[in-house]
Amino acid sequence: MSGSARHNGRVNPVPYVGRFAPSPTGPLHAGSLVAAVASFLDARAAGGRWLLRMEDLDRPRCEAGAADAILRQLEAYGLVWDGAVLVQSQRDDAYAAALDALKVQGAVYPCACTRSQLARTQLNQAPRNPEGEILYPGTCRNGLPPGAVARAWRVRVPDVSTRFHDRIHGDLQQNLAHDVGDFVVKRADGLFAYQLAVVVDDAFQGVTHVVRGADLLWNTPRQIYLQTLLGLPTPAYAHVPLVTNAAGQKLSKQTRASALPETGRGAVMAEALAVLGHPPPAGLAGAEPAELLSWASAHWQIENVPARPAVANAAA
Ligand code: GLU
Repeated sequence: MSGSARHNGRVNPVPYVGRFAPSPTGPLHAGSLVAAVASFLDARAAGGRWLLRMEDLDRPRCEAGAADAILRQLEAYGLVWDGAVLVQSQRDDAYAAALDALKVQGAVYPCACTRSQLARTQLNQAPRNPEGEILYPGTCRNGLPPGAVARAWRVRVPDVSTRFHDRIHGDLQQNLAHDVGDFVVKRADGLFAYQLAVVVDDAFQGVTHVVRGADLLWNTPRQIYLQTLLGLPTPAYAHVPLVTNAAGQKLSKQTRASALPETGRGAVMAEALAVLGHPPPAGLAGAEPAELLSWASAHWQIENVPARPAVANAAA
């Protein structure tokens, strides 16, 4: 037999590998549950693997004990992952190798600008990207100013439109030069930036499908650009609705979202499924999370997931 993927005359479809990548800055809340459930169901409905990655890259923002708490919450909500958890704080060598590859190509440059300098340069009519971040004015793009000391590494972005497809939001495009600017891949505090780590790790874990919260939608072109530079495959992307509080703010530690409850988990899971456009049938009222997930993976249709955000119950 040859090494092809042919069995019984059929070519096996590309195996699906999905992932959930929480940042251990606090326990999971109703919003992070929606992202976890969506990525889990999309993987399981495709007969795929669902991996877990602990994104503890930004050490100062991580909370002691949060990573373990998240694992316990996932188990309690019936979200059972495959294989070992990949931990970003142990992956610096891989990120350093990727940064070296970018340096060799001249795709990145050292930057000496401080946050306060950048804020001052742009005090008037500061151009900002859709997430409200200040665009980098390109001060160090053609070399450090005399006497300046390198602090961070930035990637040089092209003035072209990056087109991409999102399975929920459709065909989109973004011009990185206009909407983002040259972005940081290694920070002034010596930590690697999320954009670089996520691209390196998605490729390392063989991720074929990224399903995550819509707050990350406009990070996708940056990640696709880094994948192109590093010769890494681009996964399929789907960005699921954010859950907001009554004031329209994304649930997060900053907006004091409560941790997922330890009782009444079935009702919380049913609510997450409703946010994802898959409300369980009345016959499953009172069911435990695992039973709801098994119903949902049999009925999962990404076309039914709405693009608009959802407002959480007052309890969230
Ligand atoms: N760690 C990120 C977060 O918790 C998710 C990153 C990703 O899914 O690409 O928001």
